[in-house]
Amino acid sequence: MNPSQSTQIVDACDEGAGGNASYGRPAPSGVDTTHGVIVYLDGITVDFDGFKALNNLTLDIGVGELRCIIGPNGAGKTTMMDVITGKTRPTSGTAFFGQNIDLAMLSEAQIAHAGIGRKFQRPTVFENHTVFENLELAMKADKRIAPTLFSRLSGEQIDAIEATLELIRLKESAGRLAGLLSHGQKQWLEIGMLLMQEPQLLLLDEPVAGMTDAETERTSELLNELKGRHSLMVVEHDMDFVARIAGQGKVTVLHEGSVLAEGTMEQVQADQRVVEVYLGR
Ligand code: ADP
Ligand code: MG
Repeated sequence: MNPSQSTQIVDACDEGAGGNASYGRPAPSGVDTTHGVIVYLDGITVDFDGFKALNNLTLDIGVGELRCIIGPNGAGKTTMMDVITGKTRPTSGTAFFGQNIDLAMLSEAQIAHAGIGRKFQRPTVFENHTVFENLELAMKADKRIAPTLFSRLSGEQIDAIEATLELIRLKESAGRLAGLLSHGQKQWLEIGMLLMQEPQLLLLDEPVAGMTDAETERTSELLNELKGRHSLMVVEHDMDFVARIAGQGKVTVLHEGSVLAEGTMEQVQADQRVVEVYLGR
């Protein structure tokens, strides 16, 4: 990838490469959500050598909201997640986590540490460890806790792992090697690993891609359980799945890097501009 002069791509293990003087400092502790908003994107443009993957995008998400993002291929959905997680730096516009955290001031690692978790499409679990150990490692990746697999778990930590096993429907598989799980189960395990870090905002990019119908159904139940406890942004192509997790909540339609429509699933599906964008493909 060849970052243009106007767009900085900052790698996670390359902190400081952005030339931003504050990168070495720890992330500010505590996101301020007193106004009920977990993330604010305001006028975000990402210009890749003259091509605007995001074009003056403005969008915000409420605390505890599950926001579905839909839109045709190339609409800018993944780029938006890249901006929120600090992987791609906007050419212009501002991105805030709560009222107080300007994401432009933080490295990717600091953004993750501040409470934004992201699940990519392809699951990345530790195949040679058990399901339980994967959750244990994820919990311990939190720097406040001792970082070895063999340090003893407190009762509280064991309870936290068991609660997550239940939530992600892998209680019966706790002792199995993660490499032996089905594709869908690996996806759930990875969501569980993110949850062990207690993120305030969870970003999921096409979580049901490649899943069976039964796995998709169970994933919709899981996300419905997370709603309210976490703030979630879910990008997905499967419209039946979107309808099931959105309920009466807001769905945002992206097109050519901007918001084309926003409303309930019923409202956006009835929107003539949305219909045209999908039919016009
Ligand atoms: P979506 O996830 O909605 O399918 P993306 O955010 O992946 O869309 O991409 C939006 C547009 O930006 C696409 O046209 C894509 O080709 C382009 N794009 C994404 N990343 C880059 C990059 N690093 N360099 C140049 N163009 C890019
Ligand atoms: Mg994408």
